[in-house]
Amino acid sequence: MDDLIKQAADDLAAAGKVTALTGAGISIESGIPPFRGKGGLWERFDPMEIAHIDAFMRDPARVWNILVKEMKKIVDIAVPNDGHKGLAKLEEMGKLKTVITQNIDGLHQAAGNTDVIEFHGTFAWQRCMDCSRKYETRQVDISVIPPRCSCGGILRPDAVFFGEMIPPDALRRSRQIASDCDVMLVVGTSAVVQPAALMPVIAKESGAKVVEINPERTPLTDEISDYLIPGGAGDVMNRIVAELEQIS
Ligand SMILES: [Zn+2]
Repeated sequence: MDDLIKQAADDLAAAGKVTALTGAGISIESGIPPFRGKGGLWERFDPMEIAHIDAFMRDPARVWNILVKEMKKIVDIAVPNDGHKGLAKLEEMGKLKTVITQNIDGLHQAAGNTDVIEFHGTFAWQRCMDCSRKYETRQVDISVIPPRCSCGGILRPDAVFFGEMIPPDALRRSRQIASDCDVMLVVGTSAVVQPAALMPVIAKESGAKVVEINPERTPLTDEISDYLIPGGAGDVMNRIVAELEQIS
């Protein structure tokens, strides 16, 4: 383990451009449950019933009451953990340029990362379905459901529902960034869902080192990753940053 931390710090020290690909695993320590897998929201809800754009269009109040209110409760009080802070620190040190994330919790920006590509949009903001005005989710009054814009339009999460497209610009930029980095840190994701799954492959094919930080082995581990540092994102990032500060 210590050898792997040292290896990661050496690889980061030698790298000009570092990018990170993150997923639900990095936000667990902030109290955000994953959607997929054990304990995930989709164990309790059928996403096609409740998180599909058609379901929202059909009955926004229902989706607000069952899903969006619950997510708001969780995200409103969540704060970045050491995993997010470690990535922000890497940006501060001039190493990390861009975070590509599958998360919608806004915690990378809250930690201080300035260039965050969000494949699935963001839940930190709500958007008016009529005039597109945006409201910070924390500020949205939910005493009346569905909440509305000052223009009268219904507010929806600025995140991607099932049945909606990944923002094309996010996809285009992340492909470009993945092909032009020296190290890709894959943190808290098994990267099995597209389009995230493609990014480590592009990085690897373009000559980057792919360093995986996950509690367990994933499909990436043997095929793509140069090595896996097993553990929680917070603990591992703390140790890598501490090591990197010593050698740089
Ligand atoms: Zn409006």
